[in-house]
Order: sequence, then structure tokens, then C-alpha cells
Amino acid sequence: MRDGMICVETYGSELEAEMALGQLQAMGITAVMGRDDSGGMYPQLDQVVGISVLVYQEDAAQARAILTGTGGDGSGAWTCPACGEEGEPGYDACWKCGRERM
Ligand SMILES: [Zn+2]
Repeated sequence: MRDGMICVETYGSELEAEMALGQLQAMGITAVMGRDDSGGMYPQLDQVVGISVLVYQEDAAQARAILTGTGGDGSGAWTCPACGEEGEPGYDACWKCGRERM
């Protein structure tokens, strides 16, 4: 993991993570894949740890918007366009600032 990068999404497989990386890089966002290497000590946790996608902090809100915007049915987590807060799935307005989901 590089300094200043944060995890925006975690995927259950490398393939899904690679697709997410491709989407972000196509939008000009620097993104890397992060593997949680604690699997060596706790191999039984491999399935739940997953592959994280990391971006620089200043790109995080945009990255989340891109990843959730291509999520398909739109019922998943989303990011408020006004304040950047993560919205709860199933809600159509931001719990923090009241901005409607786009
Ligand atoms: Zn908000």
C-alpha cells in the first residue's frame, strides 16, 4: 500500500478488482490493488478478506461514485454528490446533508 491511499472498495475476487481498476484508470484516477496479506497467518480468512482497491484520498469520492454508478441495479451503497458521505443502500437522500441521490 502506498502512502496517502485509501481503500474505496473491496472485492471477493481478483477479477472483479481488476475490472474496478480498469474503470477508475479509464477516468484518469490512479488506482492500485491491495491484498491483505494476513492470509498467510489466517488462511481460513482468505474468503472474507478479499482484494481491496486503493486510490489517493483526494480521488476517493470520485472513485466511489464511478464504482457505485456502474453497479447495475442502483440499490447498493452510493456517495453523496454534495458532501461525499457514503449513503445507505435503499435511501434516496443523504442522511448527513439531505441532498437527494442522483
Ligand atoms: Zn450529503
